[in-house]
Amino acid sequence: MKPLGLFGGTFDPIHLGHLRMAIEVMETFELESLHLLPNKVPPHRPQPLASAEQRLAMTRLAVEAVPGLVVDERELKRPGDSYTVDTLEDVAREFPGRPLLFMMGMDSLLSFTSWHGWQRILELASLAVCCRPGHRLDSDSLDVQLSWRLGEGPVTGPGQILPITTTELAISATDIRTRAKNGQRLDFLLPQAVADYIQASGLYRADKAS
Ligand code: ATP
Repeated sequence: MKPLGLFGGTFDPIHLGHLRMAIEVMETFELESLHLLPNKVPPHRPQPLASAEQRLAMTRLAVEAVPGLVVDERELKRPGDSYTVDTLEDVAREFPGRPLLFMMGMDSLLSFTSWHGWQRILELASLAVCCRPGHRLDSDSLDVQLSWRLGEGPVTGPGQILPITTTELAISATDIRTRAKNGQRLDFLLPQAVADYIQASGLYRADKAS
């Protein structure tokens, strides 16, 4: 059975860094579908500037013509903090027996042992880890509790940590929000439909409440 890909993020906003890595994870692991999971209350970071509805709308616009990418609203519908471990328990119940492959950027792997329930996450899923400019995997940076799990795939079950070489795009949502706030152009950092949405709604603009 092909693994189900899962990609959790704040997506404030979703950008080409996210989308390119999702495509490359799908190709590398021959996934048929990959769920994008916008989170409601991200536990590890400052709260998003865009509302849940706005982030959902942008994620939908980004993937509407991309085969295999599915917007999954389960974290937005669940009350309380959006813990990945709870999401994976829920997905595992919905897709019994299906291997789960949760993807992230290298920056996220380097702080992964601070995540709530990280050991349980690795009982439920394997991790596909993508390159991110400025974040390197070396023996000093990765927690020893994780390093023995490093492998190359294929996905044989939960508990594997599978770094893959992906196109490095130094794009971040933080940078996009700053540009939008300053009234700068966003073209080619995110899908044009998302750039148009941000511009039309005034989202992130210093002179407009979002
Ligand atoms: P922010 O700048 O607001 O922190 P972000 O651009 O890092 O946002 P998130 O929604 O927080 O985006 O990221 C979700 C996941 O995507 C994380 O695992 C992060 O590592 C990964 N990610 C985001 N941007 C990139 C990128 N350009 N290259 C590789 N991984 C990325």
